Amino acid sequence: MGYIISFDIGTSGTKALLVDETGKITGSSFKEYEVSYPNIGWAEQYPEIWWDAVCETSRNLYNRFTNEFKDIRAIGLSGQMHGSVFLDAKNEVIRPALLWCDARTVREIEQMQSLLPLDIVVDILSNPLLAGLTAPKVLWLRNTEPQNYKRLKTLLLPKDYIRFLMTGEIGTDQSDASGTLLFDVKKRQWAYEVLEALGLDEKILPPVGHSIDVAGEVTKSAAKELKIPVNTPVIYGGGDAVMATVGTGIVESGRALSVLGTGGNVTIFSDKPFVDPKVRLNVFCNVIPDKWIQLGVQQYAGNSLRWLRDNLVLFEQLRMEQKDKDAYEMFSVQAAEIEPGSEGLIFLPYFMGERTPHLDPYARGVFFGLSGNHNRQHIVRAVMEGVIFAFRDTIDIVRKIGIPVDVVRTTGGGAKSPLWVQMQADIFGCQVETLKVDEGSGYGAALLAAVSVGMFSSINQAVEGNVEVDKVYTPDKKNTKIYDEIFREYSTLYPALKKNYMSIYKTMEKIKCIRG
Ligand code: ADP
Repeated sequence: MGYIISFDIGTSGTKALLVDETGKITGSSFKEYEVSYPNIGWAEQYPEIWWDAVCETSRNLYNRFTNEFKDIRAIGLSGQMHGSVFLDAKNEVIRPALLWCDARTVREIEQMQSLLPLDIVVDILSNPLLAGLTAPKVLWLRNTEPQNYKRLKTLLLPKDYIRFLMTGEIGTDQSDASGTLLFDVKKRQWAYEVLEALGLDEKILPPVGHSIDVAGEVTKSAAKELKIPVNTPVIYGGGDAVMATVGTGIVESGRALSVLGTGGNVTIFSDKPFVDPKVRLNVFCNVIPDKWIQLGVQQYAGNSLRWLRDNLVLFEQLRMEQKDKDAYEMFSVQAAEIEPGSEGLIFLPYFMGERTPHLDPYARGVFFGLSGNHNRQHIVRAVMEGVIFAFRDTIDIVRKIGIPVDVVRTTGGGAKSPLWVQMQADIFGCQVETLKVDEGSGYGAALLAAVSVGMFSSINQAVEGNVEVDKVYTPDKKNTKIYDEIFREYSTLYPALKKNYMSIYKTMEKIKCIRG
């Protein structure tokens, strides 16, 4: 039997999956590591910790599956997107990588806004100018660490650095390149006009390959460290947000994935590189040739419910009433007793500002419409509904630009609540499915590698037999109508409050000064 091994280079750790040629997971291994925060808003990692984690997880699996390791046919890769690995002329790492969650590049984003006209942002980059993406990180290096910038020879993304250590080959893939703000997402090549406008040398960028193609083979020295046979093919792989869609079977038009975890996102499969004229979503090349994905991000999705659990006295009372249940389960029981729409109580989940659709760091959470009739059950339900309304913003944007959303698969902690999943079906007005197993991005990378070396005839075939639906939720037509009305109200609240968010921010700054 042949095997694939995949590595998913995450932010909190790296996960290795050993998958057999039928697509069944044989074993997995996870190695956790830290993010360092050397300054307010900074988030960095030494690329070496990813390599150490890749080697350790691989050796762990080798110790458990020594025979199977002899039959490994390919390596799949997936990784955190947008991180900047800066290499010098000797391919040595110059400084720790700036991660996707690093917010230090506010000045560089302003610089990019002044250098790049909106039509270039929409038509070529097809992505909002966000501090976490890669290009502003390079500008930051140029502005702040000129000595390091002088040494910069090659810019890589996290999983590409790992592939380089495995194979000695420098390269990236179209999906990960899409998140750099240096890539023409429609033409699927580096955006030369953007590089010129920013004054960056195209020589720092690696060649770009197809995610599914073989990029190189495991070298002798890497084979020793990984315990994987020398010359094993390594595919280009892709960015984790995109790989997660393959791992959950979102591989054709009409399909979307909603991840309801601490943060949240909705990713929609797209046949065409349509772009929202207001560039509120990320558009990335899919790991499937000539396809794309659209991505909306909620900074504080499931975390809203956690905040409720941890900060309002409600939970203590609930615990006294229902001793045997987990807090979140109790929330679902309580919320289920309230009618859809929470009797006019609307919640905006913008605790940390919001990315989609407002791109506004000053936005904050709101309970709107509280009355004496509302009790804690209404509050819980309103929070759950508000989070899904925020997801619907993304779905509405893509539907308006002509991308269908007929079936949504949902994963993350929130998918454990049947009530929350049914709310998604009702609020999106389409079928929502949960999965039996969710190994997400790492599994997507393994399936893609399996297709690459001919274990499956196509990505669709790989996914069909292997990604299994657990439950199907269909929308309740009456509830969908009610939610359509409430969503209209929800949508008017942010524009009405936008100015107030800024003014309370300024007021708080003033108060800080008064206090000294
Ligand atoms: P992360 O995104 O950090 O990996 P999870 O995917 O586990 O974490 O998501 C955590 C969130 O999932 C919690 O904040 C909570 O909103 C939600 N959650 C977890 N368990 C349940 C449950 N049983 N019912 C409803 N929501 C849940």
